Amino acid sequence: MSQSLVIIGGGIAGLAAGCYAKMNGFDVEIHEMHNLPGGLCTAWKRQGYTFDLCVDWLCGSSAGTSLYPVWEELGMVQGRTFQDPEYYTVAIHRNGERFTVWADPDRLREEMLRIAPEDRKFIERFISDIRKLMRIDMPVDPGFWDLIKIIPSLGLFRHYAVPVSELAGKIRNPALRDLFISALDWHDQSAFFVMMMIAFMARKAAGYPVGGSVPIAKAIEARFLSLGGAIRYRSKVREIIVEDDRASGVVLEDGTRVPADIVLSAADGFSTLFSWIPEKYVTDEIRGYYRDLKPFPPLVFVSVGVAGGYAGIPRSVSIPLREPVMIAGMQVSRLTLMNHAHDPTLAPPGKAVLSLMIEADYAYWEKIPYQTEAYREEKDRIGKQVLNTLQDFYPEIRDKVEVMDIATPHTFVRYTGNWRGSYEGWLSTRDSMNLTLPQALPGLRSFYMAGQWVAPGGGLPGAALSARKAVQLICKAEGRRFVTTKP
Ligand SMILES: Cc1cc2nc3c(=O)[nH]c(=O)nc-3n(C[C@H](O)[C@H](O)[C@H](O)COP(=O)(O)OP(=O)(O)OC[C@H]3O[C@@H](n4cnc5c(N)ncnc54)[C@H](O)[C@@H]3O)c2cc1C
Repeated sequence: MSQSLVIIGGGIAGLAAGCYAKMNGFDVEIHEMHNLPGGLCTAWKRQGYTFDLCVDWLCGSSAGTSLYPVWEELGMVQGRTFQDPEYYTVAIHRNGERFTVWADPDRLREEMLRIAPEDRKFIERFISDIRKLMRIDMPVDPGFWDLIKIIPSLGLFRHYAVPVSELAGKIRNPALRDLFISALDWHDQSAFFVMMMIAFMARKAAGYPVGGSVPIAKAIEARFLSLGGAIRYRSKVREIIVEDDRASGVVLEDGTRVPADIVLSAADGFSTLFSWIPEKYVTDEIRGYYRDLKPFPPLVFVSVGVAGGYAGIPRSVSIPLREPVMIAGMQVSRLTLMNHAHDPTLAPPGKAVLSLMIEADYAYWEKIPYQTEAYREEKDRIGKQVLNTLQDFYPEIRDKVEVMDIATPHTFVRYTGNWRGSYEGWLSTRDSMNLTLPQALPGLRSFYMAGQWVAPGGGLPGAALSARKAVQLICKAEGRRFVTTKP
C-alpha cells in the first residue's frame, strides 16, 4: 500500500492537497521553492505598507454555500472577518458618466436603467439571469441530484458563454455599452464567469478576508502542520523520478533525491508536463490544450503607498485615459485601480494602498532580461507613466506617494514559476468554461496534478477543489475511503 506522498508547490492547491492527504492518513511532504506559503496568494511589505497581490474576493466566504465547508476543512475561514463589497466595480466614461456595478440586483437594475432607459429589455433579462445564478452553487462532490439541480442553468451557460464585449453588442445606448465592457470585460472571458461573480457577491458569499492573502495562506499552512504534514521551503524541484511507468519521487535543484510512493504536482502545469516528466506520458488531448487554450495574460502589477485615507476612490474603478499610452509595449486606454483603504491592516493609520493590474505582453518582457539596467529603466518609466495618469485623475494623491513597487511578468515567473507569467492559469472562455484538465496520466502510475492549470478560470476555489479531487483520485486508486475532517 502506498503511504508517502510528495507534493510540488506550497500554493493554495499544494497546501490544500497536503491537508486532504493528511486527513486520509498519508505521510506528506510539500516542497516549495519560495520561503513562504501561498504561491500567487501572497503579499509583500514595503516601508510599513502591505502590497497584496491576490485576494479581492473569496467565493464561498459565507455559510450556506457549497464551498464554505471546504474552506472550513482547510481551516481558512474560522475566526476570520469578511467584508461583503457593495459593488463589483465602478467604470467611468470619458464623458464623466459613472457606472457602478452594484452587487444588489435591484440597485444594479436601477443604475443601468438610469444610464440607458432604452435598453430596458436587455437590462431586465440580464438582472433576471443574475437572480437565477444566485440560486446556483458550485458542486463540490457532485452527485446525481446536484447535477439535476444545475440543469436549469445550462441555458444560461450557453447564452452567456460569449465574451462580455460580444454580449454588450446587444446594448443600444453607446455610453452603457462602453461602460459595460469597461467594467465587466476580463480578458475576453465568458460573460457567464463575471455574472457568476456578481451573483456570489449579491448573495454575500464572495467576501474580502480582512488581512488579505497571506493570513489565509498561513491558515491553511497551519492546518496542514497541525495535521502532521511537513513543508520544506526554498526547496525547488527540477524533475520527477519515473521508474517502470510509476512516479517514485522528485529530484531537487541541488540534486537531492526525495523518494515517495506518490507524487502530486500542484505547481506550474507546463513545467510539470513538459520539463519534469518524460514527454511520452503527455497525451495528445493535453498537448492540444496547451496549444489551443488561452492562458490569463501576464501582468505588470503596480502597488502604491499613499499618505491619506482616500475614501472617495472606489475600491475598484476603471478610469479612462485622456490619450492612450504605451505601457511596456501595450497600448493602454484605461487603467483599473484598486483602493485597499477598506482594509486598515494593509497600511499605517491614515494611509492607504492603491494598486493597478496592467495587462502585459510576455514577448516584450522576454527581450528585457531580469534585473538588468534596461529592466530597471523600464520599471522606472512605467512608474512615472502610471503616477502621471493617476494624478491626472485623482489630483489629491499628488505629492502623497510614499512608496511604489512594480512587479513584472519576470517577478511572477521568478516567485511562482507560472508559465509565461500567467497570473491565474487558463482563462474561462467558451472553449474552456466547462472543461477540467486531466489530473492523472494514463501511462504513468502514482502521479497526480492539482491547481489552477487543471481548473480553467483559476482562482482559490479552483485550486482547493482540484486538490480535493486529486486526493479523492489517490484514495480511490489506493482503495481507501476518502474522508474529511474539520479543525
Ligand atoms: C492579481 C491577482 C488577483 C487575484 N485575485 C483573486 C481573487 O480575488 N480571488 C481568487 O479566488 N483568486 C484570485 N487570484 C487567483 C489565485 O491567486 C490563483 O488562481 C491561485 O492562488 C492559484 O493557486 P495554485 O496553488 O494553483 O498555484 P500557485 O499559486 O501558482 O502555486 C504554485 C506553487 O508552486 C511553487 N513552485 C513552482 N515551481 C516549483 C518548483 N520547481 N519547486 C517547488 N515549488 C515550485 C510556486 O512557488 C508556488 O508557490 C488572483 C491572482 C492574482 C495574481
